[in-house]
Amino acid sequence: MPPHYLLIGQGLAGTLLAHFLEKAGKSVFVIGRQDEGAASRVAAGLINPITGRRFVKSWRVDSLIPFARNTYRELEQKLGISLYYERNILRALAGPGEENAWLARSGEPGYQHYILDRAEPGAYAGKIKQAYSYGEVRHSARVDVGLLVEAYRQYLEQKGAYREETFDYTQLEMVKGGVVYPGIKAETAVFCEGPWARENPFFNYLPFQGDKGEVLIVRIPGAGFEKILKQEVFIVPLENGLYWVGSNYVKGPEDGRPTEAGASYLRSHLEQVLKIPFEVVAHRAAIRPTVRGRRPFLGRHPEFPQLALFNGLGAKGASLGPYWASHLADHLVKNVTLDGEVDIQRFVKK
Ligand SMILES: Cc1cc2nc3c(=O)[nH]c(=O)nc-3n(C[C@H](O)[C@H](O)[C@H](O)COP(=O)(O)OP(=O)(O)OC[C@H]3O[C@@H](n4cnc5c(N)ncnc54)[C@H](O)[C@@H]3O)c2cc1C
Repeated sequence: MPPHYLLIGQGLAGTLLAHFLEKAGKSVFVIGRQDEGAASRVAAGLINPITGRRFVKSWRVDSLIPFARNTYRELEQKLGISLYYERNILRALAGPGEENAWLARSGEPGYQHYILDRAEPGAYAGKIKQAYSYGEVRHSARVDVGLLVEAYRQYLEQKGAYREETFDYTQLEMVKGGVVYPGIKAETAVFCEGPWARENPFFNYLPFQGDKGEVLIVRIPGAGFEKILKQEVFIVPLENGLYWVGSNYVKGPEDGRPTEAGASYLRSHLEQVLKIPFEVVAHRAAIRPTVRGRRPFLGRHPEFPQLALFNGLGAKGASLGPYWASHLADHLVKNVTLDGEVDIQRFVKK
């Protein structure tokens, strides 16, 4: 039996969409390339409900976080791995202005759920340079996105539903009621190529951007940090005793390779925060699939309904991915109308 859906790209977007299509009783076949420099392999996987300099709730976070938590728990069961780690975020406040803004925010309706009355530095006490003060966020988490992508690839391989190759767009044939690609026939092809979507001849009319980010993986002997810290950079405890440190934002480069300038930026910021020594174990970089308007891209091609797209997870794939993957699966399988904020129809000239 040919698969119902051919998915191209198996980062977080392709993985989550495959999961929801299977959940809806559909079969999938995935063509992917395991790029070490893909965002899903480099990301910290933070789910952070309060972001930015103005400490506002992230877009639709009240529905996105519970949905994401349930989805990752479901995938933990399906794959027999651990993925979702609830971890509070300690946020450094630089002076009285920031502290007042934080306190004002914490009193607003809808914010008490996320902001603790009193921040507790825990294991950070004495090991970092003291900021003016701290705020603490709860219902935040880290998702092991790299492990999810790897484990899901193995799961697909075992079912004979994965092929490792670079998809060649010139080989795709549009036929009545579907698509044909060498060795595969499917009803719909869904492209989930992250920032490489700019090379996709069917969808490159969309305003993809791409922001590069570099990260360090470090060992900090004797640290014992459990919470996530945001002070100059993010310090994120990993489950193997190492720490993820990042990241910077560089707009629009084609090249996602690590640079010496990126490493030295992160090293110097970490030195400004830590009072105890650290050792760099790895240095990685990737391009975030950011897009104009910062809302995900979902939907079928305006001319070729047998082609669809799931992209634009930007810097927040861990929280956005599950909800919007499920929504796209509902649209593809049950023809549920797409939410106008994410539907790529918004870019079709009327
Ligand atoms: C430094 C950094 C830090 C981040 N931190 C966080 C964070 O803390 N929290 C958070 O939520 N998000 C974070 N992100 C963002 C997050 O990584 C992304 O939102 C998410 O991983 C995007 O997933 P994706 O599947 O759309 O893209 P990608 O991860 O880029 O995956 C696309 C996949 O498609 C494959 N592909 C592309 N073209 C082809 C082709 N022609 N043939 C075959 N395969 C192809 C690629 O090889 C790749 O495997 C971070 C990103 C970066 C770079």
